Amino acid sequence: MDRLTAERRSWLMSQVKPKDTLPEIKVRKAAHALGYRFRLHRSDLPGRPDIVFPRLRLVVFVHGCFWHRHEGCKKAGMPKSKIEFWQDKFDRNVARDKANMAELQRLGWRVEVIWECETRDPKTLYEHVAAAIKAKDGNQ
Ligand SMILES: [Zn+2]
Repeated sequence: MDRLTAERRSWLMSQVKPKDTLPEIKVRKAAHALGYRFRLHRSDLPGRPDIVFPRLRLVVFVHGCFWHRHEGCKKAGMPKSKIEFWQDKFDRNVARDKANMAELQRLGWRVEVIWECETRDPKTLYEHVAAAIKAKDGNQ
């Protein structure tokens, strides 16, 4: 394998699983605009939540509609081939998400999921994040 191929390959790999996805960055911006302190990708928490508001005991997952199976969303269509393979993969993703959320709740965290398709409009997204924070902040 020549050098160029290796570079191209690692570039392709980085495209497959970006560290910070665009929907995530958008949610972060909204959270930042709201003025609350948050941390990213806390690997000591189940499921490594994308955004963590420690003071609010609130975690936010920004989920891709396809991989995490956003119900009724047109971005969560079923691939046309290898259906069994995909179904198995999806089932495992959904089961893992459920287990992580249950564990987080057991640890006293509130869990908010923001779907990729809900990050398109900045104003709606801002309101969504604000509502999630206020619901928690009001309880304290
Ligand atoms: Zn969706």
